Formats: sequence, C-alpha cells, structure tokens
Amino acid sequence: MADQQHFDVIVIGGGQSGLATGYFLRRTGLKYIILDEQEKPGGAWLKTWDSLKLFSPAEHSSLPGWLMPKGDEAYPGKAQVIQYLTDYENRYKLPVERPVAVHSVTKANGRFILETSKGEYTCSALVSATGTWKKPFIPDYLGRDEFEGIQVHSAQYRNEQEFVNKKVLIIGGGNSGAQILAEVSKVASTTWVTLEEPKFLPDDVDGRYLFEFATRQYKARQEGKEIKPVGSLGDVVMVASVKEARERNVLSTVRPFTAFYNNGVIWPDGTKEAFDAVIWCTGFKSSLDHLEGLNIVENGRIATHDTKATALDGLWLVGYGGWTGYASATLIGVGRTARQTVKEIEDYLN
Ligand code: FAD
Repeated sequence: MADQQHFDVIVIGGGQSGLATGYFLRRTGLKYIILDEQEKPGGAWLKTWDSLKLFSPAEHSSLPGWLMPKGDEAYPGKAQVIQYLTDYENRYKLPVERPVAVHSVTKANGRFILETSKGEYTCSALVSATGTWKKPFIPDYLGRDEFEGIQVHSAQYRNEQEFVNKKVLIIGGGNSGAQILAEVSKVASTTWVTLEEPKFLPDDVDGRYLFEFATRQYKARQEGKEIKPVGSLGDVVMVASVKEARERNVLSTVRPFTAFYNNGVIWPDGTKEAFDAVIWCTGFKSSLDHLEGLNIVENGRIATHDTKATALDGLWLVGYGGWTGYASATLIGVGRTARQTVKEIEDYLN
C-alpha cells in the first residue's frame, strides 16, 4: 500500500467489531479500508487461552448477516470462533489490510492522519475498533513488585501446564476467573480471591438468555413496564468446565488479602501464606493509545453519544463494552451498534 492513501472511512482494528462495521460499510459505496495489526484474522480470539468457551451457543454468537455454523460442542471454543471470523471476512470480501499497526492519529483540515507501520493514511471519518486485549488491567496491591513468584494476567494465560503441582492464587470473580480456576485446580492447589461472592447463573441461563432478556426489557420499558433479569452479562456462566469444578468443590472464594510479601500474600488477620503463582483475572481497559494525540482520551475512555465521539467530529468507537452500547463487546451485540454507526457516518459524510 502506497503512502498518502485517502479514504472516506478507515476502521482501525479487524476483530469482530471492525468486521461488523465493515459489513455495513460495504453496502454504502463509500471508499473504506480496515487496518489490523495482526498477521491473521481473529482479533483477540487469537490470544485467548486454549480452552476458552463462548458463553452462548453458535447461533447466538453471530455477527450481522451470517450465523456462526454449529460445531461439535454446545458452546463454541476459540478455534471455531477464529474460523468463523476468517470465513466471515472472506465471505463478504472485507478489505482488511494486515499487518498494519496504527501508531498515532491526528486531525487537521477536516482529515484524520494515521501514522502506521506501512506509512501514512488519511480519511474523512474514522472508526476505532481496537478492543481491550492490549490493555490488561491489574489492580494496585501493596508490595506486588516484591512478590517473587510467577504473575500472569489472563491475557497471557494459555493453559494449566505452567502450574502443575504449584500453589496458585487466582484473583477475579468473572467468567475468566471461573474458567481458569476450573482448569488450573485440576493440576494445582488453588485459592480463589474475589471482591465479593461471585454470582453464578443458574445452569440453564447463559449469554443467549441475557441478551434476549435485554431486548425484552427494552420493549417492556417502552410500554412503561419493568421486568427483572435473573442475572447480568458479568455473572459466571456455568459452562461444562465450571460445572465440573463445582462437582469437585473448588469454586469457593475468599475476600482479598491486604498486601504481598516476597513469598506470597498477607491476609487481613495478619497471617502470611506462601504461593508459587498469581493469575490475575481482573479484566481489561479500552485500547486507545493510538488516539492519545487527539487529546480527547480521559480516564481511559472517550466521551461518546452511543458510538460517536462528542468532542471531535468524524470519530466513532465500536466494541469496547457498555460505554459504546449494550453488549457491544460481544459477537451478537456489536452488530446493532455497528449498523447505527455506519448510518451516522453516511449522514456525516453527506
Ligand atoms: P478485538 O477482538 O480485540 O479486535 C481488535 C483488533 O484490533 C485486534 O486484531 C487488534 O490487534 C487490532 N488492533 C488494536 N490496536 C490496533 C492498532 N493500533 N492498529 C491496528 N490494529 C490494532 N464475546 C462474545 O461474543 N461471546 C462470548 O462468549 C465471550 N466470552 C468471553 C469470555 C472471556 C473470558 C473474555 C475475556 C471475553 C469474552 N468475549 C466474548 C468478548 C470478546 O473476547 C472480546 O470482547 C472481543 O474480542 C472484542 O472484539 P473487538 O473486535 O472489539 O476487539
């Protein structure tokens, strides 16, 4: 790709959010391109741990236009999702350029200027769909740097092999904490630390139910009614591995320790306990470093109305989570916000 290419729209990021946006852009006749820094399709799914399972069945984990084909398992695994994203990109001939890393973005004379690993690109409207995987979040704990054992975030965790016969502290009460605990506890002695008692969904409730519930709730509110869900998107879905861990009685939790020392942690009553390893399952922040030059990133976010940046014309943020639309960080949820985003871009450019 030559330098100085100008596009009506550039989408940064070719994961599920970038592809969903591309799906709607391709119907508009606008000149657009998707830039993705990875070698292959798949976005964050290329980096997740080996045994990760989706919390909804395939047909409820789909991008706009084409349902994820059913596989052998009720809840698709990582390989199935990567294959689906690869096939989706090919099916709709989405113009994704790889690998192109966008280092920085500025705006002058109504144009965005992107400095990338392949030179300069410019565009009139910009969509950032860079996800969260590059920004693992680890909370501040006193003495964390003094701890001499292994520390990994779920973003780096691949499988249980590194932890065989070790004493492991798993921190974080969401789906990643539960799934990693389920796996590691088979080969290691584990202690699960969560801020409060985790919320486990009933066995027959999964992401599909929660998403459908949100739609019913929206309709009910329009009729002036209020209905209550049995859980929320952050609650732990009882996928097979977590159910199996429950059978082994390893799902119990304790509240946080007060500090680290070189060999382990100090509990609130002052006792010290040694650990070989800590696995942080404490979530992610939005990956927005490439937009710092626009001077609108505050506290790790950009102010938006739905997906549209409010302090700068021509910029949209797709994916990332609740702040850019309900369930926008899920395969089934991102389509809704992508469609609305492309409508707004068309209005803006016209
Ligand atoms: P990503 O998939 O991260 O894609 C962003 C792409 O942009 C990447 O390829 C990245 O390399 C690229 N990029 C980033 N910065 C730049 C840059 N500066 N220049 C160029 N390219 C760049 N979702 C579901 O739908 N169902 C589930 O069941 C589900 N389960 C989950 C379970 C766990 C434990 C976790 C942690 C997440 C789960 N998710 C699930 C959510 C899902 O993993 C992510 O939210 C999703 O990958 C976000 O998609 P995205 O396209 O926004 O970002």
